[in-house]
Amino acid sequence: MQRRNVLKGLAAAAVFPPFRPGMAAPFRRVRPGEPGWPTAQAWEGLKAQVGGNLIAVEPLFGACRSDPQSGPCGETEQNIHNPFFIGDQAAGTQTSGWLDAWMSAPSVYAVRARHAADVAAAVNFARAHHLRLAVKGGGHSYQGTSNAADSLLIWTRAMNDVSLHQGFVGAGCEGRIKPQPAVSAGAGAMWADLYHAVTSEAGRYVQGGGCTSVGVAGLVQSGGFGSFSKGFGTAASGLLEAEIVTADGRILIANPCQNADLFWALKGGGGGSWGVVTRLTLRTHELPSHFGAAWGRIKARSDTAFVELLARFFKFYAGNLLNSHWGEQIAIGPDNSLKISMVCQGLDDMDAQSAWRPFFDWVTASHDDFEITDALHARATDSRHWWDIKGNPSMVADEREGAPPHHGWWDGDAEQVGIYLHGYDSLWLPASLLREQEGRVLVQALFSGSRFKTIGLHFNKGLAGAPPEAIAAAKDTATNPAVTEAFALAIIADGEAPAFPGEPRAPIDQNRARLDADAITSAAASLRKIVSQPGSYVSESNYFNRSWQAEYWGENHPRLAAIKAKYDPDGLFTVHHGVGSEAWSDDGFVRKA
Ligand SMILES: Cc1cc2nc3c(=O)[nH]c(=O)nc-3n(C[C@H](O)[C@H](O)[C@H](O)COP(=O)(O)OP(=O)(O)OC[C@H]3O[C@@H](n4cnc5c(N)ncnc54)[C@H](O)[C@@H]3O)c2cc1C
Repeated sequence: MQRRNVLKGLAAAAVFPPFRPGMAAPFRRVRPGEPGWPTAQAWEGLKAQVGGNLIAVEPLFGACRSDPQSGPCGETEQNIHNPFFIGDQAAGTQTSGWLDAWMSAPSVYAVRARHAADVAAAVNFARAHHLRLAVKGGGHSYQGTSNAADSLLIWTRAMNDVSLHQGFVGAGCEGRIKPQPAVSAGAGAMWADLYHAVTSEAGRYVQGGGCTSVGVAGLVQSGGFGSFSKGFGTAASGLLEAEIVTADGRILIANPCQNADLFWALKGGGGGSWGVVTRLTLRTHELPSHFGAAWGRIKARSDTAFVELLARFFKFYAGNLLNSHWGEQIAIGPDNSLKISMVCQGLDDMDAQSAWRPFFDWVTASHDDFEITDALHARATDSRHWWDIKGNPSMVADEREGAPPHHGWWDGDAEQVGIYLHGYDSLWLPASLLREQEGRVLVQALFSGSRFKTIGLHFNKGLAGAPPEAIAAAKDTATNPAVTEAFALAIIADGEAPAFPGEPRAPIDQNRARLDADAITSAAASLRKIVSQPGSYVSESNYFNRSWQAEYWGENHPRLAAIKAKYDPDGLFTVHHGVGSEAWSDDGFVRKA
């Protein structure tokens, strides 16, 4: 089957002028109505090449504009809070926009790809006709990098098959790398699909993302963190092989034994910059017997008590939780609250409870200073059922007719579905801050920053405390090495209900939204002051970050830039703040002089 796809890809490439690295680059990509926009006949040719799977893209709320009473309009309104519904729409983006940054905009046409040959046909067509190309999997880009007005979209949603291997060896790695258990997935698969196949059905573990509807290809290229990354490292670290269509229309295999430079770039170098990944293979691990959680909320009765609470928490964290077991989050609020939503792996119920007992006992005994506003708990359960939807009170099922029964999302992720962002920033916090003046510098900065806005600390998105092999594997990826020394990624973000173009809702209050964005900037500035070389996670970061090359990739950026020049010299794959995007206008249409 794969061989047939390769042959089809080569046949598709022959229809258009051959690509030679260094050939004259288009200075300006074409928009509909402009000279050079493909004729109806040319589009028909592409449609035939992709087995009819070329579709004219309707805006998400297009039906509401033409007929608000229609069935399709009602269906969209009813399902707009369902991330799987959004992902099923060619025009769907999981974030509806970002103040002063971008608004969700449909492509003109989409190729609903079924295999690598369809992708190669679309890549060749876009290159030959100087089109703006967008690539979309799960649609979860906060930065809006999987949608672009006036573009051709390559949409991988339908390429979602998943298969398990007992002993996988990459092509060309025979005799060099020993076989290992693995899972292969089409680029359009979501983590819900992999967790179902690998954990619920086969009793093993694959390192993916936290949010179940995120796309596998997008997350791996981001670096990728899941709830248990403190134990297993980043998702990119687990990549064993990728199939990818590059800008010249070739279908390549990238792994440690062939196209190794491209393979490395795919591990955290950012989605949408290297080509279109069509299939990925990831290492699987033995499943720990238990997964668990700790949760609750504490409110201090004074500022002084809150500083004391934070100091006590971080001392406790450094002594008891900074290890491979504990990940996920706390939230530090302007109302002097500390919300705990953490998870663990590899600890049974007793272990989980006793890990937290010293802290919970101290808080409970200090009731003059603190109020427990949500009861404090720590529990663990059989890991095999972690991603079960049925009977799981923390999961919301996709109840649409015909939806796979394993498709559902954590209720904690619900408020992010379709969100319109006011602002977003992130920063890795080095573990040395836990020791500096016994954590006082850190606590003071968190206290000051939280006066402006709630600060989330995602412990699973910093690898300090992870096993040495997880850290070594992360160092062999393109992600900023700062991740290996960070105990957490601080995230400060906020927004409002979905605001897709044409959606029936009250207009955005721009002034209020801008004040909110300013508060996010001020909170982040309090933390940036205490980190000498700030690093930020490429896919959960500030759209307006001016030092994005250094913050996303650190010392790895020059190597990434060289790989970009080798595989995509003419910038066919351009996304906001992607490697090589400096050469392009913000909308990706004009190559700067
Ligand atoms: C609600 C939400 C929750 C999130 N949770 C997590 C989390 O738990 N952990 C974490 O690490 N990150 C998380 N993220 C960030 C997320 O991992 C990245 O945004 C990721 O890139 C999304 O991948 P996608 O396929 O869903 O998105 P898309 O928007 O489809 O793609 C993201 C980028 O990757 C490119 N891309 C997609 N598919 C391909 C492909 N096949 N080949 C080449 N390029 C491709 C796109 O062009 C785009 O530039 C979250 C984001 C959101 C919005």
